[in-house]
Amino acid sequence: MTQTEPPDAKARRQIAPVICYPTESLPQPDLLRIDRARAATTVIATEVAPPRDAASILVPAGHFLRITSVDGPQVGDLNLFAADNLDERFYSGKTRALHGTHLTRGDRMWSGFPYLRPMATISHDSLAWYGVDPYGGRVHDVIGTRCDPYTGHLLGGGDYHHCCHSNLTRALATATELTPEEAERHVHDVLNVFMCTGFTKDTGQYFMKASPVRPGDDIEFFAEIDLLAVLSACPGGDCGSEHSSDTAACYPLRMDVLRSDAPDNHAPPAINGYDRSHGLA
Ligand SMILES: [Zn+2]
Repeated sequence: MTQTEPPDAKARRQIAPVICYPTESLPQPDLLRIDRARAATTVIATEVAPPRDAASILVPAGHFLRITSVDGPQVGDLNLFAADNLDERFYSGKTRALHGTHLTRGDRMWSGFPYLRPMATISHDSLAWYGVDPYGGRVHDVIGTRCDPYTGHLLGGGDYHHCCHSNLTRALATATELTPEEAERHVHDVLNVFMCTGFTKDTGQYFMKASPVRPGDDIEFFAEIDLLAVLSACPGGDCGSEHSSDTAACYPLRMDVLRSDAPDNHAPPAINGYDRSHGLA
């Protein structure tokens, strides 16, 4: 294979990009209706993910899940499941393709195939002001996976048991009464709540930096369907230095489920309408 540039290399690089998935054609969330519902709410359940550990909570459709930073800057790794079907779970890659590398208010978290429907709509983001920093960093990414003991082992870091992958596995096993071995197979790539990340301009490598989150900051999700949410308080703390160790200062994250005081007959979106014949007769 030649590494010589072809004569028209410049012209080829000058071709303008096109957006893969123009979101105008997606079913849009009704933010006005969501705002009416969130104007007056009552907290009906609370769980706290302790530092370097995880917790789960059920969020009925039409309710809100609010994740709040308490005590100190802390990043969280969030998994979402359909409450009655662990096979329907958050699809980080497709959500990234639809909404971009980082999520904020108005973006949705989509489930995987064959369901591919909105599981949740982000209804509030106290860090929306952050935008993009001089390094290209943004908050709440769907590019990272979740810190895990396998990659740590591969990189020679030994066996660390409180990575988000393991925390999510333990919390999901507790929530579902599956064995940890069974639960682990359902743990998936996450929404990195409060995490500040991007890609380096020169090498295109995934970077993280200290999160701008401070106690009292929150991100809130409108549950489109009945959800089981599992959240890990990442051992990386604010992810300003490293994760996969006990080095960083870590804090809890609180999850509240809020019921709207304004009655609203929310109808969960139907699962995807593709006929699943895949070209077979
Ligand atoms: Zn983590």
